[in-house]
Amino acid sequence: MQIIQIPCLQDNYAVLIHNDATGETILFDAPEHDAIAKVLTANGWNLTAILLTHYHLDHIQGVSSLMAQFGGTIYGSAINSAGLGFALQTIDETGQLTVAGLDIQIFDTPGHKSDHICFYVAQLKMAVVADVIFSLGCGRLLDGSAAQLFNSIQKLQNLPDDTMLYCGHEYTASNGQFARAVEPNNVALRARLAEVKTLRNQGKPTLPTSLAAEQASNPFLRTNSAEIRQNLNMPHATELEVFTKLRQMKDNF
Ligand SMILES: [Zn+2]
Repeated sequence: MQIIQIPCLQDNYAVLIHNDATGETILFDAPEHDAIAKVLTANGWNLTAILLTHYHLDHIQGVSSLMAQFGGTIYGSAINSAGLGFALQTIDETGQLTVAGLDIQIFDTPGHKSDHICFYVAQLKMAVVADVIFSLGCGRLLDGSAAQLFNSIQKLQNLPDDTMLYCGHEYTASNGQFARAVEPNNVALRARLAEVKTLRNQGKPTLPTSLAAEQASNPFLRTNSAEIRQNLNMPHATELEVFTKLRQMKDNF
């Protein structure tokens, strides 16, 4: 099995999984055609499936042209799937998907977008979380509530700690500024910020990240942190209340 994270557009990522045993290839999200086509062509691969996390243009605008060139069945949420300009098989967390020899678990993850779903591949200890969890941050609330996004993140928090998270955007450095502002004494966060600085100076991605690393450093996964609660003056608030406040603060940061 090969997992390839492909930088697309300004700061997006797509992910390919290639099964060497069967010759099959899965693409997660299609922010653009060219960057993804280049990798497929260089390896001589076609597409077995394109799995879409949500229907923002910067996650789907390469779908039609990639499918025309490389084939593949498209899968995505039924929500908002009318009028996308391509046909797809609808999926949600009540169903199980087996593609390219991999069992793929689906999570309905509204909050950023009502049609957002995430994918978990236990065999590869990886999850495609797109715009739900970023390293040191989380997605913005575009058509959902803070409670929805909080619940979506809780579902992903239940995955094994060593799960590698593939996020939709390279936002880590800017997210880190907010994380530092709300939890400046977090040692794990400080170490992560130093690592991010080094990686970005070398032009390297900061992703994927592990769930364990995010639980140690990402304020949106740390709504129990005494330091964050103290800085927000919310010592006795619920985790959802802390999460909601953090999301509001980040929007205005
Ligand atoms: Zn999005």
